[in-house]
Amino acid sequence: MKEFDIIAQYFKPRSHVRRDVQLGIGDDCAIVNVPQNQSLAVTTDTLVSGVHFPENTPARAIAHKAVAVNLSDLAAMGAEPAWISLSLAMPNVDEQWLDEFSLGMQELTEYYSVQLIGGDTVKGPLSITLTAQGFVPKDQALTRAKAKPGDWLYVTGTLGDAGLGLDMLQGKMDVPPKHRNFVANRLNYPTPRVLVGTMLRRIASSCIDISDGLIADLRHIMQASNCGAILQVDKLPLSEAMRDSVAGEQALRYALTAGDDYELLFSVSEEQKGNLDLAMTTASVSVTCIGQLNGVQGKLELRDGKERYAFEGQGYQHFS
Ligand code: ADP
Ligand code: MG
Repeated sequence: MKEFDIIAQYFKPRSHVRRDVQLGIGDDCAIVNVPQNQSLAVTTDTLVSGVHFPENTPARAIAHKAVAVNLSDLAAMGAEPAWISLSLAMPNVDEQWLDEFSLGMQELTEYYSVQLIGGDTVKGPLSITLTAQGFVPKDQALTRAKAKPGDWLYVTGTLGDAGLGLDMLQGKMDVPPKHRNFVANRLNYPTPRVLVGTMLRRIASSCIDISDGLIADLRHIMQASNCGAILQVDKLPLSEAMRDSVAGEQALRYALTAGDDYELLFSVSEEQKGNLDLAMTTASVSVTCIGQLNGVQGKLELRDGKERYAFEGQGYQHFS
């Protein structure tokens, strides 16, 4: 199968069609139109086999995850996803693999009305680079840098499940049978918090998606916003699967340091708390207040109730 045939068979016919795409796959470039008064948010993520997913990961999961991690970045900026492009390197042409992969892409792109508008297909070790573009009204993008001391810290969903799922699949952890699907899906089929991200636009003072672990990503907000923080470990939202699988201290370790959850971590000022509660009544995901920012620049203190919680550990570091 030639590059052109692969594109025609697996990527072109299945992609959703949007009116703001003047010219999609097939020419040298795609031509797209950005709505008036909107800014374009652009993000790229690469998933390398054996690094970002275990080598035996199903193609459908790889595709889902590649789309999900990019949409999660858009969500963290309050952007609404519109277009993606895909650069695919693969060692050989495996039609069954491509079939599953394109289906996996299709699931999330159709759900969010996102169109695949182009890409590149090359031979090489399996690696997927995806670029996603989305719209956010001018000057309403959520960033890491505008949090203030006193703002409250929140997270969506539950924390640490993907890390537990990875350890389970690698045979390092035992998870009760009734929870195995849940944690495996949290790892392989993460849910980007797209709707919550857009709802936070005029409510949150900062936002980030948790890809490298809560502590690591909280430190990004602290650094960008020149703040310190107190994190209440007794408030961290843990899934039933997590609580049934591991003891308290280990559950906290997962919640604080495990990556790949793709939940949103954001800050909200005291004045905006009421608006957050109101907005979240229609959201399909829970949000939990887990701490507060303060003016002690760069210092992160963990507390269990009123007591200090001693903890050694960092989030996922790409080059250590
Ligand atoms: P060029 O040589 O100009 O880079 P290609 O032959 O690589 O063009 O690609 C032809 C068309 O198919 C282009 O529109 C390109 O964006 C698209 N394309 C190539 N690979 C992919 C892919 N994996 N997914 C989606 N579109 C792709
Ligand atoms: Mg090319």
